[in-house]
Amino acid sequence: MNREAALAALGEGGRSWDLVVIGGGATGLGAAVDAASRGYRTLLLEREDFASGTSSRSTKLIHGGVRYLRQGNLALVRESLQERGRLLQNAPGLVRPLPFILPVYSGWERLFYGAGLKLYDRLAGSRGIEPSRLLSRDEVIEAIPTIRPERLRGGIRYLDAQFDDARMAIALARKLFELGGVAVNHFEVRGLLRNGGRVAGVRGVDGETGREFEVSARGVINATGGLCDVVRRWDRAASPRLVTHSQGAHLVLDRSFLPGVTALMVPKTRDGRVLFAIPWKDHVVVGTTDVPVDAERLDPQPLQEEVEFILAHAGEYLVRAPGRGDILSCFAGIRPLLARGGGATSGLSREHALVVSDSGLVTIAGGKWTTYRSMAAATVDEAARVAGLPPRPCGTGQLALASLESAGQNRSEPGGRLHPRLDLWEGEVVRGAREEMARGVEDVLARRSRALFLDARAAVEVAPQVARILARELGRSEAWASDQVQAFSALAAGWRPRCVAPLG
Ligand SMILES: Cc1cc2nc3c(=O)[nH]c(=O)nc-3n(C[C@H](O)[C@H](O)[C@H](O)COP(=O)(O)OP(=O)(O)OC[C@H]3O[C@@H](n4cnc5c(N)ncnc54)[C@H](O)[C@@H]3O)c2cc1C
Repeated sequence: MNREAALAALGEGGRSWDLVVIGGGATGLGAAVDAASRGYRTLLLEREDFASGTSSRSTKLIHGGVRYLRQGNLALVRESLQERGRLLQNAPGLVRPLPFILPVYSGWERLFYGAGLKLYDRLAGSRGIEPSRLLSRDEVIEAIPTIRPERLRGGIRYLDAQFDDARMAIALARKLFELGGVAVNHFEVRGLLRNGGRVAGVRGVDGETGREFEVSARGVINATGGLCDVVRRWDRAASPRLVTHSQGAHLVLDRSFLPGVTALMVPKTRDGRVLFAIPWKDHVVVGTTDVPVDAERLDPQPLQEEVEFILAHAGEYLVRAPGRGDILSCFAGIRPLLARGGGATSGLSREHALVVSDSGLVTIAGGKWTTYRSMAAATVDEAARVAGLPPRPCGTGQLALASLESAGQNRSEPGGRLHPRLDLWEGEVVRGAREEMARGVEDVLARRSRALFLDARAAVEVAPQVARILARELGRSEAWASDQVQAFSALAAGWRPRCVAPLG
C-alpha cells in the first residue's frame, strides 16, 4: 500500500480501468476487493481516509441483529448470520465471537426473548457459534458483576461476533492491493466523465498536491454512503433522493463499568431502542442512538441529548451509573436510511439499495458492515453487466482476510510505547506510514490505532510524538507536524464530552 506508487498508476497516460469505486468505507472496499478478486482492473478513490466515514464509527459488531428479529425481518437476519459465519471463518484474526447477556425482568420476558434467541440460533443453522441458553439470576450476576440486581430475574446468554471496524477496512485495502487493485486515500472525486451519454470514468483531485486527474473506466460504482445522492446528482441533476440520514452515537468508558468478557444487550429501552454495553479493547463502548439529521457532516458529533440518553440508560442497568466525567471518548456515525421512492431497481434486502442509472452509474447504499461481502457480490455482478465486462463469478465467500494485529513485531522496535494510557507503539505508527497509507496524525490516531475512540484526551497528548514520527517517515517538515497537531487537537475536542455540541 504505497500511495506514491498508487497515484503514479492513476496518472499513467492512456491507462483505463474496468471499474472505479468512489468511496473507501466498508461498502466501497468490499466492492473493490470483490471486483479485483474476479480479475477486473479495479481502482478505489477515497476523499478522506479509508473508513473515515460511518465505517469506523459502528458498534463494532458482526451480528445477525436481534433488533431485526424483533422487526420480523428474518431474511436479513439469516443473511447477516451467514455472513457472520463466513467472516469468523475467513478472518479469524479480525472477527471473534463475543458472549452477550440479555437480562430479563419477568417470566414473560424470559419466554419471549428466550424463544427469539432460539430462532436466532436456528437462522444461523450450521454457521451458529454456540446455542443460546437461559441463565439464572446468579449466573447473570456472576458473568456481569456490575449489573444492577434489583428486579433482575435472570438472563439469556447468546453469542455474536465483534471486530475492529477501521482495522477491518485496512485489511480490505491491503487485500485489494494484493489482488492487483489500487486504492488512493485523500483523493476527492469531483465529477463523472461521459462518453456518448454513458458514464466513462471520474475526475478528481489529489488532496495532498491539488493535482487534478481524469480517470477512464468502463464502469463506476458510487459507494459514498451518506453522500451517495451528491454523486447521483452529478450523473443526473433530477435524481430522486435515495437516502435520508440518522445519527448514532456511542460513549466509551473505563473497563471497570463492565469488567469481564460478556457484553450487555438491552433489547428495548424505555423508548424502544436497543442498547449495547460492549467490552472493546480494554474499554467499554455503550450505545447507540438514532436521531434524524438533515445532512451529513464530515465529522458528526454526538449531541447533548444523545449523551444524556446513553448515560441515563446505562445508569439503569449498571450498579455504578456513569456520569459525564467518566466519558473517555464519544463518537457518532451517520446512518444512511433508504428513502421511499428512491427508484431502487434491485437489492438483497430492505436494508440496502443497489441502483443503476440510465447512464450506467451503479450506486450501492445502506446495509451493514456485517453484510458488506454479500452486498459487494451483488454490486459487482451488476456493475460488470452494465459495463459489458466478461462475467466472472464472485469468489469472496472463501477469501481469507489476514489480521494485521501482529503488533509484537512492532513493539520490539526502538521508541516503544508512546503513552501510558494507550496501547500504541512507535512501530505501529511507522507501519501505518510505510504499509497502511496513513498520511497524517488523524489517520494514525483514529483508524490505524483506535486511540481517539478509546481515550480522546490521551490521543491529544500523544499527537506531537505521532506527528514527529510521521514527519520523519513521510519526509515532512516541522511546520507540517505542528499543523497536524493543531488540526488533530481541534478535531479531538469534539470527541470529549465537555465539548459535546449543545442541543439546537
Ligand atoms: C451508529 C452506527 C452503528 C453501526 N453499528 C454496526 C455494527 O455494529 N455492525 C454492522 O454490521 N453495521 C453497523 N453499522 C452499519 C455500518 O457501519 C455501515 O453500514 C457501513 O459502515 C457503511 O459503509 P459505507 O462504505 O456505505 O459508508 P461510509 O463508511 O460512510 O463510506 C463512504 C465513504 O465515501 C467517501 N466519499 C464520499 N464522497 C466521496 C467523494 N466525492 N470522493 C471520494 N470519496 C468519497 C467518504 O469519505 C466515506 O469514507 C452501524 C452504523 C451506524 C451509523
